[in-house]
Amino acid sequence: MKFYNLKENEEQVSFSGAVKQGLGRNQGLFFPETIPQFENIEKLLALPMVERSVEVLHSFVSEDLTKAQLTEIVTDAFNFPAQIQPINEKRAILELFHGPTLAFKDFGARFMARCLQAFSGDKMVTILTATSGDTGAAVAHAFHGIENIRVVIMYPKGKISLLQEKMFTTLGGNIETIAIDGDFDDCQALVKQSFDDQELKDTIGLNSANSINISRLLAQICYYFEAVAQLYRQQGKAALDNIVFSVPSGNFGNLTAGLFAKAMGLPIKRFIAATNANDTVPRYLQTGEWSPNQTVATMSNAMDVSNPNNWPRVEHMLKSGIVDKDCVSSVSIDEEQTQMTMIALAKLGYISEPHAAVAYKALQYNASDEEFGVFLGTAHPAKFKEVVESTLGQPIGLPKELAECATETILSVDQNNDFTVLRKYLLEKA
Ligand SMILES: *Cc1c(COP(=O)(O)O)cnc(C)c1O
Repeated sequence: MKFYNLKENEEQVSFSGAVKQGLGRNQGLFFPETIPQFENIEKLLALPMVERSVEVLHSFVSEDLTKAQLTEIVTDAFNFPAQIQPINEKRAILELFHGPTLAFKDFGARFMARCLQAFSGDKMVTILTATSGDTGAAVAHAFHGIENIRVVIMYPKGKISLLQEKMFTTLGGNIETIAIDGDFDDCQALVKQSFDDQELKDTIGLNSANSINISRLLAQICYYFEAVAQLYRQQGKAALDNIVFSVPSGNFGNLTAGLFAKAMGLPIKRFIAATNANDTVPRYLQTGEWSPNQTVATMSNAMDVSNPNNWPRVEHMLKSGIVDKDCVSSVSIDEEQTQMTMIALAKLGYISEPHAAVAYKALQYNASDEEFGVFLGTAHPAKFKEVVESTLGQPIGLPKELAECATETILSVDQNNDFTVLRKYLLEKA
């Protein structure tokens, strides 16, 4: 199968091309030319997660990977569970945070790392990325120890929590981390300057590994299938009529993957895209006007995005009829409601964090009692320890992934916010 550029449709590349390139010409996103369809969904749902994921992904990648190669990649990448936990009779959370960095980004980053390894051969690749927390950890762990791939992660010095910093700066080996004397936007500007520098780009084989990479989205399709498979196993065929997913959304990659799953024939009735105060999409769906406001900082900071970079893919699916145009609604949840919802969930016996709480609240607003609502748990509550503890007034324990790295040494180098310094560093160490 080919993937085409949504902006310049004549640009078509294979899966490996889309993974290596990331973005197409004119910043266009790659999109699959067809969506594979499954007739016998129940048979697919009966398979174990890895086997089913190979079936789900095979036709997207068959030009570049054999089934055996894909099986090896998927087995290695998805070595932790996605798990449905019931909240009450009509609501459940899909916990996606049991991977090495305790966030759902592990699924996409681990799959992408293994695909890129398969496609880059002997050629050295440098992943350069800026992070304010979660992405850096997922990318660092996903690529750690992978041959021929060098990872350089920049972050704003002193502006992320110590625990967050320890999660990606203590690995060593092929993972290099730079604490920049500046803020997150400065780090992002340095990444952009590097990608604009053709000579640098060619010399060190730059790639960004960010969430617009199609491989990350394809990986995420698999846990929607897994969620429905678990509900089917628990509740039988009747479960398949009424499932609504509420997706806590920032760049809308997670929602995009869900829409792919629906288009492939997975029985999902509809989606709710839950946002925090950064409400460009809910306002757009209501008024038809795309008018991003200044991004505001919230507790659910991984969703502090006002110009979501995956939206063109969602828009394309809705407008071209790949999915029904009214299968997506969107709700914005404010800070007070988020905290009240964390408290309400704790009373039901479930400790959550702000992103999941936003998604649960959106279900309460938008889903009926006849519908079975699944909200996505995108991060472990311990990753948001401070706000969870202050909201709930109770201490929460650290899982072993966080406890272990807390005692390790930070290996970062410090750098001024200066592109010539970064450029020299990247070339010297190559
Ligand atoms: C990245 C992230 C999100 C947002 O996901 P998108 O795919 O960008 O919409 C939500 N929650 C957490 C914890 C995240 O890290």
